[in-house]
Amino acid sequence: MLQPVTIGERPLRALLPALGPERYETCEETLRTARRALAGRTVWQVNTTAAGGGVAELSHALLPYARAAGVDVRWLVLPGDPAFFDTTKRLFLLLYGHESTPEPDDAAFAHYVSGCADAARGLASRLRPGDIVVLHDPQTAALAPALAAAGARVVWRCHIGCDAPPPSAERAWRRLAPFLDAARLMVFSTPRHVPGLWRDRRTAVRVIPPSLDPLSAKNREWGHEPALAILSAAGLFAPGYRAAAPPPGTAVARVNHVTDGPGLPVGRPLVTQVSRWDVLKDMPGVMAAFAERTADLDGAHLVLAGPDVTGVADDPGGAAVLRECRQGWRKLSAKARSRIHLVTVDMADPTANATVIAALQRHATVVTQKSLAEGFGLTVTEAMWKARPVVASAVGGITDQIQHGREGILVRDPYDHEAFGDCILRLLADCELRGRLGRAAHERVHRDYLPDRHLIRWAEALLGLLD
Ligand code: UDP
Repeated sequence: MLQPVTIGERPLRALLPALGPERYETCEETLRTARRALAGRTVWQVNTTAAGGGVAELSHALLPYARAAGVDVRWLVLPGDPAFFDTTKRLFLLLYGHESTPEPDDAAFAHYVSGCADAARGLASRLRPGDIVVLHDPQTAALAPALAAAGARVVWRCHIGCDAPPPSAERAWRRLAPFLDAARLMVFSTPRHVPGLWRDRRTAVRVIPPSLDPLSAKNREWGHEPALAILSAAGLFAPGYRAAAPPPGTAVARVNHVTDGPGLPVGRPLVTQVSRWDVLKDMPGVMAAFAERTADLDGAHLVLAGPDVTGVADDPGGAAVLRECRQGWRKLSAKARSRIHLVTVDMADPTANATVIAALQRHATVVTQKSLAEGFGLTVTEAMWKARPVVASAVGGITDQIQHGREGILVRDPYDHEAFGDCILRLLADCELRGRLGRAAHERVHRDYLPDRHLIRWAEALLGLLD
């Protein structure tokens, strides 16, 4: 029932040039301690997709370091049916504070619980005493009681939340609470998202912000020419542009143009947002912010890029959001339409997909993340690592990730298209500011969001469960 995902091995030593000797040694020492303490136990992680979205990205990035260090980490994916994912997506949006999402009815909720219970039975029979299971997000929350009853130490890793939970979010938390009581530890990305409900319970709570892997295909530092060559080979640009071939051996995913039009010209400033097609990423809002300012944007173009909508198993709303974006695009002026491009990127080969996303982020003049809520915006950190100036909404974990005015620009009201458009405009007009923000952004990621910080925090958290 639960599907295993293969985890490679990546020795921490590969990070030595990025970390420097002192940070490398500290992390190496922590991993040695963790390996000794966790000997004879397996650390299982369970989520609902191996590709697309931040949890999959993080897991591919982090778990290989733990495995190479000798920790027996395994990754399982829960493959639900459409009704299961319809319910989990609703819970996900409700916990994010999205008030117009209809709450799942009792039958739908019972179907979700029974899907989790079936999956838990399969895993419970494989557990050894003292194993640890890390469950991710509401999709897997209802596995917790059966796994705890089978002797596992259960951790619930919540990647989502909202800054001011409306009553519908509180109700969703209360529905999940009986399952989550079985967890020994709850982990959140930002202190802002620890629900009031848990502040005075006995379950331990930790805050562990995610990280990115500077060695992954997503975060490789492509120079300007290779990035152009990759985007050209992917089919992003308007016909007529002839780039050099991508570097030998580079797999490049296909970019599919969802909107008509002449395609993206080379040599114009580029604003981009890379996100799943999710209402909370507000792709239509970015489009509106950009379209309102088309006349002032001095030839800039906007690319909204997301996964091929069939590609993210646990995200059933993607096709509807993409459709809404396309309908919104059709209503724009001809001039705005010629400057705004909606594209999806094939997901069949994750490395080829990551290469194209990396080249797009690298090629962008300005990167946006106009989320309406966010646990931690991995795309924000990815752009910052590439020294891109970011304009993002001041919501959730993004407020921890970017120091406003120093490491990027935060827009206080995520629904304020005009303010968002103004910030894009300001950055496009100021090369010096873009350079300054981009350099500080890169430094910030180097300091706080590389895998050593993340591995150390997880090692501390897991060792704390062994007492
Ligand atoms: N992503 C991708 N291809 C896409 C869209 C997104 O690889 O077409 C990746 C993106 O680069 C990032 C992750 O998916 O690594 C999204 O993580 P984030 O935390 O920003 O948002 P989430 O999807 O988890 O809400």
